[in-house]
Amino acid sequence: MSFASQNFSPEIVRALTECGYEKLTPIQAQAIPHARRGSDILANAQTGTGKTAAFSLPIIQQILEKPKSRGRFNVRALILAPTRELAAQIAQNIAEYTKYTDLKTAAIYGGTKMSSQERTLEKGVDILVATPGRLIEHVDLKNVSLTNIEFLVFDEADRMLDMGFITDMRKVMGEVNSNPQIMMFSATSSKQMNALASDILRKPKRIMV
Ligand code: AMP
Repeated sequence: MSFASQNFSPEIVRALTECGYEKLTPIQAQAIPHARRGSDILANAQTGTGKTAAFSLPIIQQILEKPKSRGRFNVRALILAPTRELAAQIAQNIAEYTKYTDLKTAAIYGGTKMSSQERTLEKGVDILVATPGRLIEHVDLKNVSLTNIEFLVFDEADRMLDMGFITDMRKVMGEVNSNPQIMMFSATSSKQMNALASDILRKPKRIMV
């Protein structure tokens, strides 16, 4: 299946062509149609399968279809990742996919200055990629609001749980007030994962690759 046949906006197709993407990977072929329609997703997928594009392309497309003004209290999509490296990688991929749009993506994570991240948030971000602990710090300082999030992704959710982020993950859920579309990706499943998934996902499409 080609990206051009998926009815993505021309700006997205052009960027994907430049990335060298021609055909959808198996997880993309399974997840993208459901995610484009707004379904919650629970996916079992390893790194290297193309999962970043599987969740981010449907989000980018849906955001482009409903333009809104940008602001720090209008973050539209939040992607949570367990580590700085993964958060930075996801944000870099999304920046490539959106290079022909005017969407703004930022990554915020621990180990770097709060002040420069605060300035980024102040200017307004459409798609925010974050590690849970640092995100909560910014939320507590009112540097950003998650109230109106329309899309929420937990990437490598199993690793986030293993690293003890459950309280922060639940706190994020408590900040959100808008019934977002939620997608959860993990390489493994566990009792704790399933409990969280059944708590927060609504009739998720289950995907395994
Ligand atoms: P991920 O699993 O998201 O970390 O992606 C693994 C690698 O596959 C990354 O380098 C992506 O840029 C690349 N990739 C993702 N989707 C495709 C695709 N449809 N065709 C070719 N490469 C892809």
